[in-house]
Amino acid sequence: MAKALHCIVWGAGLMGRLLSHSLAQAGHRVQVHDAGDPEGQGSAARIAASMLAPLAESAITEWPVVQMGQYSLGRWPELIESLPAPVFFQQTGSLLLWHRQDAPQAKSLVDKLFVNSQQLPDDCQPVSISTEQLQTLEPELSGKFQQGLWLPREGQLDNRQLLDALLQSMQQLGVGIHWHSSLNLKEIERLSDSGVDWVFDCRGTGAKSEWPAVRGVRGEVIRLHAPEVHIQRPVRLMHPRYPLYIAPKPHGVFVIGATEIESDDSSPASVRSALELLSAAYSLHSGFAEARILEINTQRRPALNHNLPGIRQPSARMVQINGLYRHGFLVAPAVLDAVMGLVNGELALANRFQLLQDV
Ligand SMILES: Cc1cc2nc3c(=O)[nH]c(=O)nc-3n(C[C@H](O)[C@H](O)[C@H](O)COP(=O)(O)OP(=O)(O)OC[C@H]3O[C@@H](n4cnc5c(N)ncnc54)[C@H](O)[C@@H]3O)c2cc1C
Repeated sequence: MAKALHCIVWGAGLMGRLLSHSLAQAGHRVQVHDAGDPEGQGSAARIAASMLAPLAESAITEWPVVQMGQYSLGRWPELIESLPAPVFFQQTGSLLLWHRQDAPQAKSLVDKLFVNSQQLPDDCQPVSISTEQLQTLEPELSGKFQQGLWLPREGQLDNRQLLDALLQSMQQLGVGIHWHSSLNLKEIERLSDSGVDWVFDCRGTGAKSEWPAVRGVRGEVIRLHAPEVHIQRPVRLMHPRYPLYIAPKPHGVFVIGATEIESDDSSPASVRSALELLSAAYSLHSGFAEARILEINTQRRPALNHNLPGIRQPSARMVQINGLYRHGFLVAPAVLDAVMGLVNGELALANRFQLLQDV
């Protein structure tokens, strides 16, 4: 490295922590300012299900997200390996399940996934499964479902362990961290007058004032403790009224969610959403009846108008990274590597993933 750069990272959710860790690891001097706290309160990253599901997402997203997801699935183990604390990472596939009466609706999605998967490597091809195969993959679900789809290369990680481990790494690498520090553009510019080389704006929905296209897409999730339920991998229930995902985390914790509402509203979850999520979870596995509700959370996913991530450079020293939307964990390593390339004057990855945007 020719010169150690002085960097400010504005926002320490998913992207801000990953970037701070990588910059500091590369020998740069890093200061971080976040409006929230070390736990990540206020970030989408704290409440996310953190599923890493490029093929499942391909049904509703643009192809660059799938490509970034494929790239990132290969990069996560390496990134996690570089952290000072363990982070649960799993790549044993995910399941799409539906009840017999919902098979006609499920078919069109399943057909789409088979078509999309033709552009992916052989080991990513979806597998139609019967009750017997489900018995092997998820024995506790096999009594209820006659068919499903297994997406064998998909994964997930533990978002909170990741945020903690990144924070520990930042502390060990001497990153200056300022919590409850909600700075505006003028204040950041004043700070960056004193010899700062780069400011990285990673504020997610908090960046709307400087990037008007940023919008929030509300999500609601419930965290349950259900030690009686033994589901091993993320499961999506394809239901016409109550679609649902369940991501099993370590120590009997399950993150369940479904909702995606075009709204900047981050007020608490409605009774209706909570009832629907819990009923759908119970319909999937009756063991959830005795689960304990740990948290009911809402948060807004930071999205841009095309629902793809974007990087732009409004001034010589400022880089804005945003629009990670519902795929933040899925694409973060790809976006991170593209930003680190940009710092070194290399645009190959940013171009490959179509990340660069005009101001
Ligand atoms: C319900 C839900 C479920 C999700 N599930 C998944 C999933 O299964 N898989 C997946 O890949 N992704 C998922 N996501 C998406 C993922 O969480 C986001 O894409 C990702 O967290 C965005 O990262 P970010 O760093 O851009 O923003 P955030 O993680 O939101 O971080 C932004 C940070 O900026 C700080 N900030 C804001 N304003 C200021 C300011 N003025 N000054 C200083 N700091 C500021 C905030 O405090 C916060 O810490 C989910 C999101 C939600 C809400």
